[in-house]
Amino acid sequence: MSKDPTRSLLVRQGAPFSLKKYDPADTLGWEKEGAKAELEKVKARLDVLQQRLFAEERRSVLLVLQAMDAAGKDGTIRNMLSGLNPAGVRVTGFGVPGGPETQHDYLWRVHAAAPGKGEIGIFNRSHYEDVLVVRVKEFVPKSVWSKRYDHINAFERLLTDEGTTVVKVFLNVSNEKQRERLQERVDDPEKRWKFRAGDLDDRALWPKFQAAYHDAIKRTSTAAAPWYVVPADRNWVRNLAVATILLHHLEAMQPKLPDPDPSVVGCVVE
Ligand code: AMP
Ligand code: MG
Repeated sequence: MSKDPTRSLLVRQGAPFSLKKYDPADTLGWEKEGAKAELEKVKARLDVLQQRLFAEERRSVLLVLQAMDAAGKDGTIRNMLSGLNPAGVRVTGFGVPGGPETQHDYLWRVHAAAPGKGEIGIFNRSHYEDVLVVRVKEFVPKSVWSKRYDHINAFERLLTDEGTTVVKVFLNVSNEKQRERLQERVDDPEKRWKFRAGDLDDRALWPKFQAAYHDAIKRTSTAAAPWYVVPADRNWVRNLAVATILLHHLEAMQPKLPDPDPSVVGCVVE
């Protein structure tokens, strides 16, 4: 695999796609030390561009993170935030819908959490749960969930048309690595709070989840809102890949600082 994750991990619209071809343990050609040094460089540049995006206050970025349990969604967000100004970042986690969320269509809560102008939004799970867990566990019939891929594409096109760059990342963890990490959650008192007995039910449904992920990624990876399949068995590869992908999209946006007020240029502060 190439070192450039923005190419090698991108799922191209219309191209043949097989989730199985992506190796969760891929290093993308990096050694750990080199990757860490590179990550620092990527973060430094992210910091500059985020600042410009924030100052420009015209457009936004939405990073969608989807994955099986213990793939590292929380760790990825924690790592991203260590390189960004939290004031311009909006993180939203989506769990089982409750309260008023159950009274509306599945996109209602998602749209409300979309990033505002100048912001980077990060979704920890998302509207994709409505074609993933909802499909696998048959919370609604196929006649209902099967229509959702089109809704999602239309919804994301609305966001992109209106100035939000949408980037979607699937953290691809292997079955064995998930087993290891779930066991760690059981064994380590500091991690136990993350473990729910229901996680084992989801794990038992692994092949069905993989099939649902395959279909979701294939049907909703578009030029405007692409998916990336990021190897997630090694945290340091995952962190570098996600940061590099985010940076790639921010670079493409070329956020600009607002023009200074002419009366301010050359002004002497006494
Ligand atoms: P976690 O992200 O591990 O804290 O858990 C959140 C849980 O909420 C996961 O088990 C998700 O599958 C579940 N979840 C998220 N969105 C939905 C949804 N729309 N319908 C049903 N379950 C959901
Ligand atoms: Mg969980």
